[in-house]
Amino acid sequence: MKIILATSNKGKIKELKEALSEYEVVSFDELIEPFEIEENGKSFKENAIIKAKAVYEKIGDKDSVVLSDDSGITVSLLGNEPGIKSARYAGERASAKDNLNKLIKELKKRGIKQTPAFYTASIAVVKKNGVFSVHGWMYGKVIDEARGDKGFGYDPIFIPKGYDKTLGELDESVKKEFSHRSKAIKRVKMIL
Ligand code: IMP
Repeated sequence: MKIILATSNKGKIKELKEALSEYEVVSFDELIEPFEIEENGKSFKENAIIKAKAVYEKIGDKDSVVLSDDSGITVSLLGNEPGIKSARYAGERASAKDNLNKLIKELKKRGIKQTPAFYTASIAVVKKNGVFSVHGWMYGKVIDEARGDKGFGYDPIFIPKGYDKTLGELDESVKKEFSHRSKAIKRVKMIL
């Protein structure tokens, strides 16, 4: 079975391809011209479904299986920010680095050295027999400085529960085993 990923995020594509290695996995922009998808949902779940449906319709083949991941980091001490705005925290066209720096800036502004945070991954699957949705979470804390260069996005400031290093520093096997995305993928496999 071929799975089409409704994302252009290189970090997500790498993790999803590794986690679904028993399937043929391609990103949608390897098949069709990339196009803008307006993520105007009110939750990770709604946005994941919006993206998967948009790509399924654009591909136009009812037998295709499209998977999308909408994810982000939530910091309760910052009023649950950036949450569903994680990809555009520093502005509409912000890079992952800009978003990371903005979160560090917001922590520093309030004198917060570390505080609880969690990642959410909502994965939607659209195929001919329906629309499916699953979630996974990873709990830990964020710190006010970037450490390490592994992973992507906010990983250099995220320390998973039970560890004393960031996902930027820890071996990639830790993320593979316990991440929000890995947990959601385990549930996706039941659907597939
Ligand atoms: P989306 O493409 O709208 O789902 O954006 C997800 C945002 O959350 C991006 O800014 C990512 O950098 C961030 N994000 C999602 N998952 C992770 C992760 O596993 N590590 C670090 N950042 C993540």
